[in-house]
Amino acid sequence: LTQDIVHCRLCPRLVAWREQVARDRRASFADQEYWGRPVPGFGDPDARIAVVGLAPAAHGANRTGRVFTGDRSGDWLFAAMFRAGLANQPTSVSAGDGLELHDAYVTAAVRCAPPQNKPTPQERTTCLPFLRRELALLGDVRVVLVLGQFAYQVVAGELGIRPRPRFGHGAEALAPDGRVVLCSYHPSQQNTFTGTLTEPMFDAVFARALALVNAG
Ligand code: SF4
Repeated sequence: LTQDIVHCRLCPRLVAWREQVARDRRASFADQEYWGRPVPGFGDPDARIAVVGLAPAAHGANRTGRVFTGDRSGDWLFAAMFRAGLANQPTSVSAGDGLELHDAYVTAAVRCAPPQNKPTPQERTTCLPFLRRELALLGDVRVVLVLGQFAYQVVAGELGIRPRPRFGHGAEALAPDGRVVLCSYHPSQQNTFTGTLTEPMFDAVFARALALVNAG
């Protein structure tokens, strides 16, 4: 699956954008080789908790090649996962930094960095089979923690949740197969700088995810 993902070129707009960003680079990363390709998921294959974000950040995962790695959203995510006991370290700066996840797997609804962080509906649909295959392989997952409304729509649709409860921080939806979709605001700078998402709020959703999986 990882090989299929990293070689994918199905979305012309996203292929052009990810490669252009990788060529142009941000000045502060000018000496670094950007990944510039689709980004696979990362974590524990026996995870009971799957975390699903939106898409790679242009100068984050699209640079480092690992999901939520090398940007502020990732700093927030993995610090919270470390506090929750799901990661062995609170930082995520590069693919070779030694980060390991326990009982958790992190992935995204769309695998290529989109302009303005906004994939089109068609790009979302085109990329969905990768998430479908990934969730099928992650047979122990009981809670899917979705970061933001976009991931929620994709995951709730994929797991057949109808009607779909309204998205909100801490909202939960039960899939027909018993898996729980747990919602969190996305740890984007837009949310964390404004206090829309605070550390206690983020810690609370991870505590809830653990309570759900530990309750069996
Ligand atoms: Fe392929 Fe997904 Fe990237 Fe589109 S977004 S090119 S489907 S990996």
